[in-house]
Amino acid sequence: MPERPSKRIYFDHGATTRVLPEVVEAMTPYVSEKYGNASSIHSFGREARMAMDSSRARVAALIGADSSEIVFTSSGTESDNLAIKGVALHKSRGKGHIITTDIEHSAVLEPCAYLKSMGFEVTRLPVSKDGFVDLGDVEAAIRDDTILVSVMMANSEIGTIQPVREIGRIAHSRGALFHTDAVQAAGKMSIDVDRDNIDLLSISSHKFHGPKGVGALYVRKGTKVEPLLHGGGHEGGLRSSTENVPGIVGFGKAAEIAQRDMPTTAERMRHLRDRIIKTVPETIPDAYLNGHPTNRLVNNVHLRFDFIEGEGLVLHLDMLGIAASTGSACSTGSLEPSPVLLALGLTHEQAHGSLRVTLGRENNDEEVSYLLEVLPEIVSKLREISPLSKGPKCNRGGGCCVQ
Ligand SMILES: *Cc1c(COP(=O)(O)O)cnc(C)c1O
Repeated sequence: MPERPSKRIYFDHGATTRVLPEVVEAMTPYVSEKYGNASSIHSFGREARMAMDSSRARVAALIGADSSEIVFTSSGTESDNLAIKGVALHKSRGKGHIITTDIEHSAVLEPCAYLKSMGFEVTRLPVSKDGFVDLGDVEAAIRDDTILVSVMMANSEIGTIQPVREIGRIAHSRGALFHTDAVQAAGKMSIDVDRDNIDLLSISSHKFHGPKGVGALYVRKGTKVEPLLHGGGHEGGLRSSTENVPGIVGFGKAAEIAQRDMPTTAERMRHLRDRIIKTVPETIPDAYLNGHPTNRLVNNVHLRFDFIEGEGLVLHLDMLGIAASTGSACSTGSLEPSPVLLALGLTHEQAHGSLRVTLGRENNDEEVSYLLEVLPEIVSKLREISPLSKGPKCNRGGGCCVQ
């Protein structure tokens, strides 16, 4: 094994990202001396309000929206909930049809399941083996009583980018609203809510170098949404509660930096991504790419290694100072593999042998070289001790969690 580098390597930007120093610097005064409530009319309040206004403009600019269409929330999860439950509860109380997909984030699937339990009908569209929604399936599923179509812009696990513009067009042609979870896409690809036919769009600050616990929902002018929190009427009545001013300021700064640097950061990440995608199958037998080779997020690599478990892979990489993640949900305490990977048609065994590498703007070629150097050795070591490599069925021993 090559020598372990002195600095840890972070390849898990799909989970969260480092708050950039410029972002911390922008937030700091609003954590300390500028502590006003943005609803107050005195100077403390006004300085908080002005800072929030400028953040709103920066977040709006990132997605081609108008400032007045941005609702600040506590997270991507809250934005998804507000979009889906907010539209459903406003449109009708207990009746109506919603279309989503098998590969959405749980922040979309769970609100849909909740609405189903209340009487709404929910259609979950399947995806192709590369992870794409078929436009013909959207056309076939949409009905006169369809109130909402929710399809994510880019998948958090396998990175596939959906044809949102066409899906939005189909939704509109039948009078339905179109929501997209753009939490993974924001800051990594161009987003324009008008061009892309989007009525509601969720983003989250901590996925692009802003602080955690702050997000936004874009709500197209004129779109009616029922609030989830009732109270003082903040955020145009859609999200009551005293605003998280430091978080919102950091979010705005992160959005500004993401947009400013996107041409260079996207190119750098794409280069590193393509190096890994090209090299791994050449240097490791029975290694495959999940998702589409090119129509995927610039920072996403999702690999599959037959006969081993992603959990072991992640733990071995961690011992060498590399942080990555796996589609095997063993690490989150469940024996079930990722539903996204099963939706691609992978078997449980195949899904368990997955490794997700999500790159960030701060990663470089040396870090990728180190990963590419250590990975073949780790994989072959794990295969030597794997019960899976000796036969198709797991003997359930040795920490194996294949069903
Ligand atoms: C992270 C993530 C969320 C949740 O965002 P939080 O701000 O962590 O609640 C929702 N959707 C997708 C696609 C995500 O990647």
